[in-house]
Order: sequence, then C-alpha cells, then structure tokens
Amino acid sequence: MTAIRGHVIELKPNNKQATYFAKACGVARLAYNWALAEWQRQYEADKNYRDDCLAKDIPIDETKLNKPSQGKLRKQLNSIKRQQFPFMLEVTKCSPQLAIIQLGDAFKRFFKGESKYPQFRKKGVNDRFSLSNDQFKLKTINNKPHIQIPNLGLVRMCENLRHQGKMLSAKVFKQGEKWFVSIAVELSEVVKPKPKTGKHVGLDLGITDLATLSDGTKIKAPKPLKHKLKKLQRLSRQLSRKQKGSSNRTKAKTKLSRLHYQIGCMRKDFLHKLTTHLIKAYDTIAIEDLNVKGMVKNRKLSRSINDLGFYELKRQLIYKANQFGKTIKSVDRFYPSSKTCSCCGHKVESLPLSMRKWTCQSCNTVHDRDINASINILNNATKVLTIT
Ligand SMILES: [Zn+2]
Repeated sequence: MTAIRGHVIELKPNNKQATYFAKACGVARLAYNWALAEWQRQYEADKNYRDDCLAKDIPIDETKLNKPSQGKLRKQLNSIKRQQFPFMLEVTKCSPQLAIIQLGDAFKRFFKGESKYPQFRKKGVNDRFSLSNDQFKLKTINNKPHIQIPNLGLVRMCENLRHQGKMLSAKVFKQGEKWFVSIAVELSEVVKPKPKTGKHVGLDLGITDLATLSDGTKIKAPKPLKHKLKKLQRLSRQLSRKQKGSSNRTKAKTKLSRLHYQIGCMRKDFLHKLTTHLIKAYDTIAIEDLNVKGMVKNRKLSRSINDLGFYELKRQLIYKANQFGKTIKSVDRFYPSSKTCSCCGHKVESLPLSMRKWTCQSCNTVHDRDINASINILNNATKVLTIT
C-alpha cells in the first residue's frame, strides 16, 4: 500500500529570493481572498435569482446560475489577471492557481461538516504558497541540497529530503522569520511492520498529565516545553499592552512568532518520540475519540488542549500504526470512561474534574481517576481508526 509523507525543510534564501517568496505569498493570499469574495458574490446572486423565480412563480433557468466552483474561478481569474493584477505574472502561476484549488478544498470540507466556513486569509498569518510537482526540482550542488524553482533559481535547503518516492507538491511558508518548504512524497518503499509484542494499552489524555497509560504510567509534557509555554503566556500579555502600529509591537510580534516556532518544534519532537515508543511497545493502543472541536469551545480547557497537541498525537499514532502494522482503536465519544468503575462496572452519577481519586461505592475499589479511565478505554475501545 502507498503512503504519503511530508518533510519540512528549512530554506536559506538570499535577499532577492526571500523577496520573491514574500511576493508569491502575497499573490496566493490575494487570489484566495479574491476567489472567496467572488464565490460569495456569485452564490448570493444565484440565491436572489432563485428567490425571485419563486416569488414570480416562474421556472428556474439553470443556465442563468453561476454555481461557483474553484475550476470556474481559476479560469475567471486567468482572464482578468493581466489587466487587473499584472503583478501576479511576476511569480509562479502555481501561487494563485493552487490557492484557489485550496479554497475549493476548504469549501468541500465545509460542505461535509468537517470544518467551518472558509475565512479570508490575513497578511502575516500562515503566509504560504504552493507549487505543483512540475514547478520545482531538487538538485545537489557542491554536495549541498537545493530546490530549483522556475524564474527564481536555486534556493539552498538545510537538509536532504528524507523520503524516497514520487514528489507530489511543495508548500513554501514562513514561520518565525524563517522560510521552510514542506514537500509531500508518495513513498515508494513498503515499510516493514514492527514485531508483535502481544501487549495492549489504553491511553487517557488529560490536562494535568499529558497521558495516563492503563498500566499506571503517567506521561508529562517535558519541562523545557512547559517553561516555554509559560514564557509564551507572558509574551502574549506583553504584546496586548503594546500600542498598535508601534515598532515595539512589531518587535514583540517577531519574538512571539519565533517562540511559537520553537514550541512547535519541541512539541512535535516530543510527540514523535512518545508515539514511536507506544507503537513499538504495544500491538493495540486504545484512545478516546476526543471531540477536540467541541472541547475547544470550552475556553478554559482550550489553551491546554491546543498546547498539548492532542490532535497531533492522535494523527501520529494513526499514521505510525498504519505504517508499522499496529492498531489504534477508540471508544465511543459518549462512553463515560472516567465515571465507570473498571473493576465492577458500577457508574457514578457525577465526578467533578477536581476529584483525582475516588472510591467505588459498589466494590470499594479506590481509583486514580485517570488510570481507571485508561483501563476502561482499553477494555471498551471497539472502533478501529484509520487514515482518512
Ligand atoms: Zn466497583
């Protein structure tokens, strides 16, 4: 079976190349926002026309409807860009085109109910542009890896591409004042499954401890990461007090985005080590089917959840299990894993979050809240999770 992997590599552009990157990001954002506004306008016009027909009791003429789509909007932009946006021609044509394809994908996810309505892109927030696989090449010059982009030339990469296989696309993006490329590769080699251990584990994801295993192990986020998160809170507070448009605010923003980047790296690194360990040590890993979207609505919890990267943990577990022949299962979202006694099955009516230990009234077992939950998760997980 084939698998797709991404590899993020830091780039070392010279000034001219960095300017090109910034321009291509600007064009991608403009094309995306133009297409979103146009989509909304055409949708509104269709709706008005339909309502009008209904009111006048005349049949709807399908040919008079716009029915916006990413394909039509790309054609429409191509026909006007020479006149209206001539600077778009200064960067790769992929930049506006792929941005509109991404808008189409965002609408698809929205219609399926997987994400919210597409939002306009903002300058300085996730600046990025994408390249199709015919618009870039990897080259080694003087033993140093480079990416070649038409009309731009060779840009130095800090490391070689890790994966072997067909390159599908590349995304160039900025994070913490640095430029990166993320290259998606369809793996050519088949990965060998990890040997079976005959062991199974339940995982309770928490706020106090990152994860509690059904064997009683508690996994905490590493100290340096916690330290950086504290620093992040402090810097965010400082930023909110700086005057808008001041140079102090710009400086604080740069500091903050650098810190975001460092935290992202540390968290990913930590989660990779943890998930690789779990996949090696166990054949089946049972987790909660966390409704992260629902939980993030609760603002008090949302910070820690985002910080600990639950979603990322689940994602890594699933793809590694898939790669190494292991299984990830989940329990039903509504299964009361904390409130059920793992010894006798008795269910308590309520268990406040602050209660870390409790005694079962039916069988007198004293439970550690999280260990009890992780045992229940192990014993009741039925749904096998696969890559979607
Ligand atoms: Zn009990």
